[in-house]
Amino acid sequence: MTNNTLISGFPRIGENRELKIALERYWAGTSEYLELEKTAKALREKHWLEQKQKGIEYISSNDFSYYDHILDTSVMLNAIPKRFRSISDPAERYFAMARGTDDAAAMEMTKWFNTNYHFIVPELDNDTPFQLNEKKIIQEYTEAKASGLKPKINLIGPITFVGLSKAPGGKDPFEYFDRVLSVYKELLATLDSLDDSITLQIDEPIFVKNPETKLLSLIKSTYDELSLAGKGLRIICNTYFEHACEAVEELAKTPIWAIGLDFIYGKSNLQCLEHINEKKLVAGVVDGRNIWADDLDYSLDLLNRISEIVPKDQIIVSTSCSLLHVPYSLRNEPESEIKSWLAFAVEKVEEVALLGKVFLGKPLSEVEKQTLEKRRSLFKVKKNSSLITNPSVTDKLKRISVTSRDGAFEERIKLQKKALNLPSLPTTTIGSFPQTPEIRKVRLDFKKGRISNDTYESEIKKYIDDCVAFQEQIGLDVLVHGEPERNDMVEYFGELLDGFLFTKNGWVQSYGSRCVKPPVIYGDVNRTKPMTVKWIRYAQSRTKKIMKGMLTGPVTIINWSFVRNDLPRSVIAKQIALAISEEISDLQDASIKVIQVDEAALKEGYPLREKNIKEYEKWAVDSFKLAVSTANKETQIHTHMCYSDFNDITKTIEEMDADVITIETARSGNRLLRVFHDVSYKNEIGPGVYDIHSPRIPTIDEFKNQIKERLLVVDRAKMWVNPDCGLKTRRWEEVKPALTHMVQATMDLRN
Ligand code: GLN
Ligand code: ZN
Repeated sequence: MTNNTLISGFPRIGENRELKIALERYWAGTSEYLELEKTAKALREKHWLEQKQKGIEYISSNDFSYYDHILDTSVMLNAIPKRFRSISDPAERYFAMARGTDDAAAMEMTKWFNTNYHFIVPELDNDTPFQLNEKKIIQEYTEAKASGLKPKINLIGPITFVGLSKAPGGKDPFEYFDRVLSVYKELLATLDSLDDSITLQIDEPIFVKNPETKLLSLIKSTYDELSLAGKGLRIICNTYFEHACEAVEELAKTPIWAIGLDFIYGKSNLQCLEHINEKKLVAGVVDGRNIWADDLDYSLDLLNRISEIVPKDQIIVSTSCSLLHVPYSLRNEPESEIKSWLAFAVEKVEEVALLGKVFLGKPLSEVEKQTLEKRRSLFKVKKNSSLITNPSVTDKLKRISVTSRDGAFEERIKLQKKALNLPSLPTTTIGSFPQTPEIRKVRLDFKKGRISNDTYESEIKKYIDDCVAFQEQIGLDVLVHGEPERNDMVEYFGELLDGFLFTKNGWVQSYGSRCVKPPVIYGDVNRTKPMTVKWIRYAQSRTKKIMKGMLTGPVTIINWSFVRNDLPRSVIAKQIALAISEEISDLQDASIKVIQVDEAALKEGYPLREKNIKEYEKWAVDSFKLAVSTANKETQIHTHMCYSDFNDITKTIEEMDADVITIETARSGNRLLRVFHDVSYKNEIGPGVYDIHSPRIPTIDEFKNQIKERLLVVDRAKMWVNPDCGLKTRRWEEVKPALTHMVQATMDLRN
């Protein structure tokens, strides 16, 4: 028996972000397209080799992309939006779709399910010129073959593709499904004639999202037709991020060769195994989206349980999803105990290979035997490691008696109004001010030891001084210090809290050439010293106006990190909340009267399955309330969220009970804001009136119109005036006039 290991997909950005560098050079015009192609080819070659050397049998082609694999699928279908059709050069057009041009806005980008990867949203309409463009797929397949592989070909499935598309005027994109499917059929026929028995991995992650009847009813006919179109192909329909039991029942009725299921984030998949019948099962047992070394014994046990229902020789061992979501390799990380607990993409490939062998009882090499042994002892050691468990945190958590703040909103707001004495329609900003190259350099120089602590502090203070002076000068009501000491709103706190690790090279693609390096929460989170008090106190000392303290909330910290998997998220959130509550207490003691706790990522962490939502909402709300539980009634708690679609989550927002919430509405207007009105939301709201994603500087009149429009749905007595989000990505030349206009417009409307 052989052929029992598969990798869903491999990261493409490169071990040292080679693709990012090559892309940015090409975009900047400092290199030719040929140069970019050469880099891409070398990366693909290297990535195939990484998997081949480890003995993986099913290795992907077409998992590479210059920008995004959903955008590649749009191009494969020739679903080019009208505004880009006049660009004749394919590469130029591809990047124009992703990034926009002077004349044509970029296509929309959104989060890939509940990950931090962003894809380009396909646009379908009546004149979409559907037509097969299989060039990239064939090229990569041929290339892989030339380097000695018989690769599988990865595709995004037609149902997921259409399900994620948008159509103009709120039309249902499934109106175009037949046209999309016929291009897929043509593609499969073409691939069928290319080579014998090609394995095709068709990803349909949309099947895990509480599939509606309409969608389910498409599965059988679609996969029957696809199977017919490519009779000689071995089709795997692959799913991930949750269970896909409803879809499995449908897929079972089709002649496809295999079904791929995620047994890490979709434990319920164990319940639908009897439908696999004679098909192969691609069993995702190695976590493809977190960075912990696999507990091989646990995974073997899982595989054995699966094999009680699905015969061993039908099981293919795999990652739970594409490795796109984890960094490249541990090779580049400095030695440390924690390092031995981790596995990035390359190491996960090794784990899958080893599991495949052990599962089938194949003879192991000495090295492999050692790896297995080391893993066994590692999990024993890890369990008792003092790096992970901090008794004082356990202790503090046990002693918590107050889990939410004192006083109902109505009572609190009265006291706050008295303490703060703000005009009607108070103005504020979301926290950060422009991150200039100079301030970035100051932070970097300090980090690298190139400047002294004194120099660093005086530079940060200078920035704060300028920020405060500017805000006073234009007449803002609640000021901020501008966040010059922060690289990133999660990293900053992670670096100051116990329990976090920052990797050296743990980059993950976020979109296009943009990569993020999420922190790793490996142990109990603990605050050992104040994190923000010094800067906020300093900023407050520079003004008689109110200075807002600025913190990041527990849910956001968790959603933007790699999180330990030996504790429930609810407990980790509690630990972080406790640390924040301590910080709030200290800020209050330093006479700070308004404190904002950002929960920018609350919404994107929502579970994909309805049945898990309640539990998520519970710990999200509980941790927020615990975080602000130390705030006195007089202290005004703000929160900020980076979107405006609160339709499904108004109850959660209400339960969080922040005194003021600032949100993003400059682009969407009142359409989404109305929901607060509809549910008679009683706390205060700051709907964004300045679109910070655009370099445009709105005029005073435009601001007035924005504010007046918001006032149609928000009670004047409860409304704040502020931008959509932080200003860190904007330039001072834009921010200065824009905020001046914003404040001026507000003052005019007050009179
Ligand atoms: N306080 C943060 C800032 O202004 C909030 C950022 C965010 O919401 N993403 O930068
Ligand atoms: Zn925001």
